[in-house]
Amino acid sequence: MELIYEKGSKGRHLDILPVCDVEITEMPEAFKRNKPPALAEVSETEISRHFTKLAGRSYGVNDGFYPLGSCTMKYNPKVNEEAASLKGFTAIHPLQGDDSSAGCLKVMDMLSRNLCEICGMDEFSLQPAAGAHGELTGLLLIKAYLKDKGEIGRTKIIVPDSAHGTNPASAVMSGFTVVNVPSGEDGCVDIEALKDAVGDDTAGLMLTNPNTVGLFDKNIKEITDIIHEAGGLCYYDGANLNAIMGICRPGDMGFDVVHVNLHKTFSTPHGGGGPGAGPVGCKSFLADYMPGSTVGEISEGKLTLKRAPKSIGDMKSFHGNFLVAVKALAYILTLGRDGIVDSARNAVLNANYMRVALKDTFDMAYDETCMHEFVMDLGKFKDETGCAAIDIAKGLLDYGMHPPTMYFPLIVHEALMAEPTETEPREMLDLAVDNLKKLKTMAIEDPGRLHTAPHTTCIGRPDEVCAARNPVLKFVREEK
Ligand SMILES: *Cc1c(COP(=O)(O)O)cnc(C)c1O
Repeated sequence: MELIYEKGSKGRHLDILPVCDVEITEMPEAFKRNKPPALAEVSETEISRHFTKLAGRSYGVNDGFYPLGSCTMKYNPKVNEEAASLKGFTAIHPLQGDDSSAGCLKVMDMLSRNLCEICGMDEFSLQPAAGAHGELTGLLLIKAYLKDKGEIGRTKIIVPDSAHGTNPASAVMSGFTVVNVPSGEDGCVDIEALKDAVGDDTAGLMLTNPNTVGLFDKNIKEITDIIHEAGGLCYYDGANLNAIMGICRPGDMGFDVVHVNLHKTFSTPHGGGGPGAGPVGCKSFLADYMPGSTVGEISEGKLTLKRAPKSIGDMKSFHGNFLVAVKALAYILTLGRDGIVDSARNAVLNANYMRVALKDTFDMAYDETCMHEFVMDLGKFKDETGCAAIDIAKGLLDYGMHPPTMYFPLIVHEALMAEPTETEPREMLDLAVDNLKKLKTMAIEDPGRLHTAPHTTCIGRPDEVCAARNPVLKFVREEK
């Protein structure tokens, strides 16, 4: 497809600006360009067609099924966008006084309280901008706390081998070293290995539960107890709360710090570079170290911003991605107490519906009731047909569907991880199951066709390594 710079012709433009009705002031010569900018020279029709065509080439949850496990591509109700586009939210300045920003303080306060309730925490900071950023923040809280206690010998963070890649990365970024613990046969933390891993150098544990294979670790209380007894703290990666929100709480499982991805669970569109938000919650004994400003009450109903006495500092300017917080609050309030529980139940129901419908087609990495996502293991399928997880994923594109997550978690080698989410109707799940079954048949009868899939999209199989190593990010314009 042509870029907009390659369209149109010299001198073509739109006359949509009104005639200037103020005195024209000349720009000082020193600031003027030597050459006019090389902007696109196109008519309104060309612009409109160009962007309509571009929009048609992208794929989102509004186009169809998007079962990208761990990422939660669920439908985001449009009413949340309406709320976040209200003038009082979009036109506010972060340095405005408490009186003229009372409504925004109220939003921050209500969202923090709701997240505390959902996660079983005592305080929340809305400052971190994403999940990984929340992890870094949470680990810095742990670090500050340990330092304050004089426990500087605690330098190790325990991370299970099934963890999201951001976990060990955040641990390293915050100055800890990572100790990996293997998962057991059942996909959950190997308790004996965990006992061996803890010691007086343990700063803490990072865990997500349900874990990245979609299973709820039944030993969770024992796991957090082992860490606490060793003198460490427990960090909950709550990027994805879809399976448990309103049903059980990280705080009750024994976790001390948690981050939540508002752009996964709480209805901010996800992908395309954000913005998202990764608020961090903690138990009261860590509240003194919180970053940025949190909302506090001065007197009956009157709110203000306060800084924690031993704050780790600012993790981002001002109060984070505030409009994402507005969307999350609108989402929580429109669902309400019962709606949140229903969403979680439906997320789990939809995942299990698909898992059971597919279990005779593809091996399940763990053949038991899953939470909001499940992992298929195509190892044997690959040996038998020569077609791999990537071929099935690519084949699904020809049916107009986004593939599941491929090759994650790392502990399952030919992994396809599907998260249908609670917002999909049953007919869509049936269609996806049908398509996956057809792809299996194709793998047996016509593997060559599957190896070269997709056949209907504008790009088929780009060289991903080359794209990552030698990205072409700049358009060099030829003179017309
Ligand atoms: C998505 C995800 C993260 C990282 O969140 P970002 O907002 O992408 O930084 C961390 N952990 C888990 C389990 C996730 O699914």
